[in-house]
Amino acid sequence: MELFGLGVQPPPVNLRAIVEKKNATIALQHHQLAQMLEDTGEKKRLRGRLILIATGSFPVSLPHIPIDGKRLLFSEHIMDITTVPRRLLIVGAGVIGLEMGTVYARLGSQVTFVEILGQIGGNMDQELASRYQAHLEGKSVHFYCRHAVTGVDTTAPDHVSVRIRAEEGVHEEQALEADIVLVCVGRRPFSEKLHLDRAGVTMDRHGAVEINEQMQTNVPHIYSVGDTTPGPMLAHKAEEEAVLAVEAMNGRPVHLHRTAIPCVVYTRPELAWVGRTESDLQKDHIEFQTERLHYNSNSRDVTGPGDDGLMKTLYNSQTKEIYGVHIYGNEAGDLIAEAVLAMLKGVPLDDFGNDPHAHPFFKSFRFMRRVLAHGR
Ligand SMILES: Cc1cc2nc3c(=O)[nH]c(=O)nc-3n(C[C@H](O)[C@H](O)[C@H](O)COP(=O)(O)OP(=O)(O)OC[C@H]3O[C@@H](n4cnc5c(N)ncnc54)[C@H](O)[C@@H]3O)c2cc1C
Repeated sequence: MELFGLGVQPPPVNLRAIVEKKNATIALQHHQLAQMLEDTGEKKRLRGRLILIATGSFPVSLPHIPIDGKRLLFSEHIMDITTVPRRLLIVGAGVIGLEMGTVYARLGSQVTFVEILGQIGGNMDQELASRYQAHLEGKSVHFYCRHAVTGVDTTAPDHVSVRIRAEEGVHEEQALEADIVLVCVGRRPFSEKLHLDRAGVTMDRHGAVEINEQMQTNVPHIYSVGDTTPGPMLAHKAEEEAVLAVEAMNGRPVHLHRTAIPCVVYTRPELAWVGRTESDLQKDHIEFQTERLHYNSNSRDVTGPGDDGLMKTLYNSQTKEIYGVHIYGNEAGDLIAEAVLAMLKGVPLDDFGNDPHAHPFFKSFRFMRRVLAHGR
C-alpha cells in the first residue's frame, strides 16, 4: 500500500499477542483493585452507614441465539478470540457493534451487520450515520438494515447459518453463513439480582435504579451510579456520577450537566456528539437551524488522508443557543470536548470557536468555521 509517497506492507497480525496485552492491562488494574479490597473467598455480611451501588450492566441476549462463548459471542467473548474470523456476523449495528466490527474488518474479516432499525449507530445523528455507513460499505462491510435475526443453526462444524428476515415488505427469509456471530443488541442495568426491591429501592421498567440529582435512591442512605442508573451507559458518565455521589454523601452540593455528556464512537474515522439530535428537537417541536462545516475547510485534514468529515451544529436561530454538536471525521472524539465546554458554559453559536488555536491543528477548524460561517 502506498499513501503520499510512503509505501508500507500490511503488518503481520498476531491476535494472540494483542489479547495477551489486553489481559495484562486488565490484570494490572485488577491487581490495583485487589490491593484495596481484601478477598478471603468467604461469605461476609458488611454493614455501612451509606451504600453505593455500582454493579454495571450485562449484555441483552436474544432467545434464539444461545450464546456459547465459542461461535456465538457477546462483546466480552470476542475480545478473547485468538484467530481472526474469516466471516464475522454482528447482530446490532450500535456503538459497540460498530467498534468491534470495524476492528475485525481492519484485521481482515468480512464483516456483515444485521440491524433491526433503519439506521446504524442507535440514536446518533441520521445524516452522520448514513455517511458513516456509506464509508464502511466502501470498505466492504455489509449491512442488512431493517432486518431481524430469526434463528441460528450451529450443526455444521465449519460455519454457523444465520436466518434473517426483512422487517418490511414481504418479510422474506434468507440464510447467511458466518464463522463467528457476535450479539450486540444493547445492555441492561445489573440490578435485579441484587434484590434491591427488598430494601425498597425503586427501579424503572428497564431495571435502572432511579436516582435524584445527588445520585441518591428513594432510600436515603442508598446511592447508585453508572450503568445501573438511567441515561447513556458510558464510562465517563459513571465516573462523574461516582465522584459526585461521594461528594453528596459528604454533604456537598453537586450537579451533573446531563445534557453535556459526550458520546464517542471509537472507529476510524471517529463519530462524536453532544446534546440533542435533529430528531430529538423535532419530537419536542423545537425550531432549530443547522450549521454544516466540512472537514475540507481544515488545512490539517486536507493534508492527511481526509475522510469527508462533517461537523453539524444545531442551534436556536434567535438566541444562538447551541442545542447539539455532531461530528464525523478524524479526531472527532477530541474535538467534541470543545463543544461540551461551549454547551456547559452557555456559549452562543457566534462565540463558539472565537478563541485562538494553534495552526495547523484539527481545532483550527474553528477558525475556518468563523470565516466560512459568517462570511468574514
Ligand atoms: C465492549 C464495550 C466497550 C465500551 N466502550 C466504551 C467507551 O469507549 N467509552 C465509554 O465511555 N464507555 C464504554 N463502554 C461502557 C462502559 O464500559 C460502562 O459504561 C462503564 O464501565 C460503566 O461503569 P460502571 O462502574 O457502572 O460499571 P462497570 O464498569 O461494569 O463495573 C461494575 C463492576 O461491578 C462488579 N459487580 C457486578 N455485580 C456485583 C456484585 N453483585 N457484587 C460485587 N461486584 C459486582 C462487576 O464485576 C464490575 O467489576 C463500553 C462497554 C462495552 C461492553
